[in-house]
Amino acid sequence: MKTAFVYTDAYLDYDYGPTHPLKIIRLKLTYELIRAYGLLSLPSVQTIITRKAEEDDLATFHSKEYLSILKQANDGHLRGDAYSYGLGPGDNPIFPGLFDWSLSVTGATLQAVDTVASGEREIAFNIAGGLHHAMRSRASGFCYINDPVIGILKLLRMGKRVAYIDIDAHHGDGVQAAFYQTNQVLTISLHESGHSLFPGTGFEYEIGEGEGEGYSVNLPFQPYTDDEVYLWAFEEIVPPLIHRFQPDIVVSQLGVDSFYDDPLTNLYLTIHGYEKIIRRIKELSPRWVALGGGGYDVSNVARAWTLAWAVMNGFELNDQLPETYLKKAAESGIHGKELRGDSKLHPRSQRKDIRTETERIVSYLKKTVFAKVSGRG
Ligand SMILES: [Zn+2]
Repeated sequence: MKTAFVYTDAYLDYDYGPTHPLKIIRLKLTYELIRAYGLLSLPSVQTIITRKAEEDDLATFHSKEYLSILKQANDGHLRGDAYSYGLGPGDNPIFPGLFDWSLSVTGATLQAVDTVASGEREIAFNIAGGLHHAMRSRASGFCYINDPVIGILKLLRMGKRVAYIDIDAHHGDGVQAAFYQTNQVLTISLHESGHSLFPGTGFEYEIGEGEGEGYSVNLPFQPYTDDEVYLWAFEEIVPPLIHRFQPDIVVSQLGVDSFYDDPLTNLYLTIHGYEKIIRRIKELSPRWVALGGGGYDVSNVARAWTLAWAVMNGFELNDQLPETYLKKAAESGIHGKELRGDSKLHPRSQRKDIRTETERIVSYLKKTVFAKVSGRG
């Protein structure tokens, strides 16, 4: 399998701020762990250094007014109408270089798209990408520019058929909104229910509109849903839909905030469950553009995306973390010796009502969505 890993240390030039949950150091530590395991020196691997996107690329999805506000905010100063575009203290802070940061993240996604679409590489991974909440004219949920949407739009212009699978704990609302009325892209988001988590959307009855009816799929989970229930529901819904739709390329958002110890969310997955999901997405993807996403426990992010990258390359990793990485991680206050660790959790995830509700949603989706999705016409 020929793969590409897109990365630059220049990500570390940017900072959401000391109290913000999104820590850019997680990208560096992921890179360091992957490198320490020797997974960038495999003969089948190409490392691509991130190049910034062009402003025109951003305009394929975002409005001119919004882009001009973002560009002005690049100096780190808040101006009058920025609030009405979702910017300001809180989730989407104005920090120096935020426009450049967005150009880099989106550029990396477009590089991943280009190398996979051209057939040069079968899989490409942009760990900085997956900023799935950004809307056409509004920053949201730590996301300023929606790189998954911009990447998918580029694939559509090349005539590719695209399925999007989003396993972040939060609903992939920005991507859903962009393709809600078209049958050209199948979007599937698995996430914690909007009743208990931002952005408060992604209910099973949101299935698309007009020609797009059936092509937006949402699988919301109750708080404390564990590996077993999650994997069961994934298997019931995702493979049948991908087989019907027959994509040329799968774009996935691989957020790591669904873990039981993530500080922002309430799902109850372990890294063992995450690894199984990644293996299934690989099996379902004829070609694969993999993007990062959320994840607010830095150690989880580095370990989970390293494991994902190992799966992408068909490589088995030893559970003992390499010493060179442990030293670097300790400098960032991160300890712990094992890649996977214990899979046994407190059994509150075994609550029967979680399974019953998930079964109800799975059967609802089978009734409403399955018959509507078809392959190339
Ligand atoms: Zn998230």
